[in-house]
Amino acid sequence: MPMSRMYREVHLRPDMVPRGTHGRKVYRSMRPRYITIHSTQNYTANAAQHSLALKHGALRSPKNPHGGNRIGYLIWHFTVDDHEAIQHMPTTEQGEHADFAGPGNRLSIGIEMCENRGSNLNATIERTAKLTAILMKKNGIPLCNVVPHYHWPRHGKHPPNKNCPHFLLDHGRPGSKWRWFQGKVNYYYRQLQ
Ligand SMILES: [Zn+2]
Repeated sequence: MPMSRMYREVHLRPDMVPRGTHGRKVYRSMRPRYITIHSTQNYTANAAQHSLALKHGALRSPKNPHGGNRIGYLIWHFTVDDHEAIQHMPTTEQGEHADFAGPGNRLSIGIEMCENRGSNLNATIERTAKLTAILMKKNGIPLCNVVPHYHWPRHGKHPPNKNCPHFLLDHGRPGSKWRWFQGKVNYYYRQLQ
């Protein structure tokens, strides 16, 4: 399948947080080597609502030099729901979504899956798998570097490994559900060959 066709199926829409504001107030370049998969654990907001919140600087996180958020705001690259995928920042800039000053933030593209009530979670997972395959292809990222948020320990937090994305983990850690998701991503990635 040509990449352009899979792009259309993903319904990718850029709605960038303006450079120099909120989550993008500090410019930190990145050459992405990983893709980190999250779920929002927010049962009311879809992708468009998360995008608005990011643009308004509404998603704050305490700044803490001893192992915490580096800029005081949360930010990630893409939010996916059952209708579309929205891009919030370039994949060549570091986000604040994983492990504070760790490699998850410094080296990975962050994707949040919405789980708002009434949405079709399977459609969201399908769209996320397609977007992940496209990003792997574009950035030369292997499947083994597509990881759940769980993969990145957050130093100073208990537990250090977050149960995220909770609906793709088994008892809070990667197992058969995560392997099922990896299989889906691999299926779409191979279609792009
Ligand atoms: Zn997460």
